[in-house]
Amino acid sequence: MAVTDHVGYAEFMEGVKKRNPGQPEFVQAVGEVAEDIFDFIADKEIYHEYQILRRLVEPDRVVSFRVCWEDDNNNIRVQRGWRVQNNNAIGPYKGGIRFHPTVNRSVLKFLAFEQTFKNSLTGLPLGGGKGGANFNPKGKSEHEIMRFCQSFMTELYRHVGEDTDIPAGDIGVGAREIGYMFGQYKRITNRFSGVLTGKGLEFGGSRVRTEATGYGCVYFAQNMLERIGQSLDGKMCVVSGSGNVATHAVEKIIQLGGKAVTLSDSEGFIFDRHGIDQEKLQWVKDHKTHRRGRISEYAKVFRGAEFHAGKRPWSVPCQIAFPCATQNELSGDDAQILIGNGCECVSEGANMPTALKGIKSFKDAGLLYGPGKAANAGGVALSGLEMSQNAARLSWDEEQLQQSLRDLMQGIHDRCVERGGIAGSDRIDYVRGSNIAGFVKVADAMLAYGVV
Ligand code: NDP
Repeated sequence: MAVTDHVGYAEFMEGVKKRNPGQPEFVQAVGEVAEDIFDFIADKEIYHEYQILRRLVEPDRVVSFRVCWEDDNNNIRVQRGWRVQNNNAIGPYKGGIRFHPTVNRSVLKFLAFEQTFKNSLTGLPLGGGKGGANFNPKGKSEHEIMRFCQSFMTELYRHVGEDTDIPAGDIGVGAREIGYMFGQYKRITNRFSGVLTGKGLEFGGSRVRTEATGYGCVYFAQNMLERIGQSLDGKMCVVSGSGNVATHAVEKIIQLGGKAVTLSDSEGFIFDRHGIDQEKLQWVKDHKTHRRGRISEYAKVFRGAEFHAGKRPWSVPCQIAFPCATQNELSGDDAQILIGNGCECVSEGANMPTALKGIKSFKDAGLLYGPGKAANAGGVALSGLEMSQNAARLSWDEEQLQQSLRDLMQGIHDRCVERGGIAGSDRIDYVRGSNIAGFVKVADAMLAYGVV
C-alpha cells in the first residue's frame, strides 16, 4: 500500500527533519529537490508505490571512523572520517573527499545526496557518494598532510574499489592528497586500480580533470546564454573562492572573452577593476593553490586591486556570478543585491552555494540560474572518463578530452532544458530541469531492481 501518496511535501519534509536531527544542510538539500520531484510524480503512481523518494533520502550506508595521526611535535591527534554511500542504482558510488573543519555527517549527507542527481545528469553510469574528515589542512606541514592521508586511507580502503566506490578530490583535497591516498591504497592492497580519480598524470590521472569543474561551470553559463542568443564575450564576471574550481573558472572566463574581477577566500575578497588576466591568475595559482597563501596578498602585489576583509564579493556589480567556494555562501540578501546590480546569470561551481531564499529570488527575477548539480558536473564527468581510461589502461589526448568536456556540459544543459521548460514562457527552470532529469534515471533503475 502506497504511503507517500497520502503525504504532501510539507509532511514529507517534517519526516525528513525528524529522522535527521541536527542535519540542516542535508534537510536543505532534500527540501530543494523534493519540491520539484513531488510535483513531477504527482500523477505517477509507481514512484509512490515503490517509495522511491523515501528510499533516496536514506543513504545506502554511512561509514564513520576514527583517524589517528601524529603531528610534527609528536602529539597524537584524533579526527573523525566518513564515507557516505548514498545510492548506486546506476553505477558505483562516486564523489569527492573533503578535508575541512566544518565537515560533519550533515554536510557529507547533503553532498552525497546532491551527487546522486548530478552524476545521473551527466549521462554516465555513476552512483552518488561523498566522504571526508573534520581535518584542517591549513598550516599543516607536508609530512603532517601525508600522515593524515595515509591514516585516512588505512580505514577507507576496505569500503572503496574501482567497481564499488571511487572517491575524488573536493575542498582541501587536491592532487597532492589524492597521491598520498592512492599510494597508501596501493601499499595496503597490492593492487594498482582506478580506485581514486584526480590522480597525477604519471599514475593514471586524466588530462583536463583538474580544470574540468571550473571550465565546465563557465561552459554551462555559456550554454545558457547561447540559448537566448547571447554570449560571455565582454561580460563582467564576479567569482568567489580561489581554489581549484574558482581559478579554472577564471581561466575559462578569460579564454571566452569575459572579464573576471574578483576572487575570495574565507578571510575576504579581492576586487581588481582592471580584470584578472592570465598572468595574475598564474600568480594566484602558484601563491594560493600551490603555496597555500591568502588571497589578501593579491592586493599588495597588483596595483589597483582592493582587499575587502570579512566580506563576500556579491556587492560588486556584474552581469554573471560564479559562486565557487562553498555551501551557503550566497544568502537571500546577497541574491537581491546581485539582481539589483543588474546580474543576468548565475552559474554555480560550488555545491549548494546559494541559500533557498536566494534561489527563490533568482527564479522570481527570471535570471539564468544554473544550480551546482548541473553547472559543476564537469568535474565528476571527467572523473568518469578517467575511470574509463583506467579500465582500458589508456591515456586519451588533451584535445579529445577538452571536446568531451564541452559535449558533456552541452548534454547536461540540454537535459535540463528538456525537463525544465516553464509553461507559457520560453524560459527554463534549470533547478527543476536538473532535479527531474537526475531523478528519472535513478528512479527507473530502482524500480527495475524491485524492493532492495
Ligand atoms: P579548494 O579547497 O581548492 O578551494 C576552496 C575555496 O573556497 C578556497 O578559496 C577556500 O578559502 C574557500 N572556502 C572554503 N570554505 C569557505 C568558507 N566557509 N567561506 C569562504 N570561503 C571558503 O576546493 P575546490 O575549489 O575544489 O571546491 C570549491 C567548491 O566546488 C566546493 O563547494 C566543492 O564541493 C565544489 N566542487 C568541487 C569539485 C572539484 O572537482 N574540485 C567538483 C564539484 C564541485 P580558504 O582557503 O580560506 O578556506
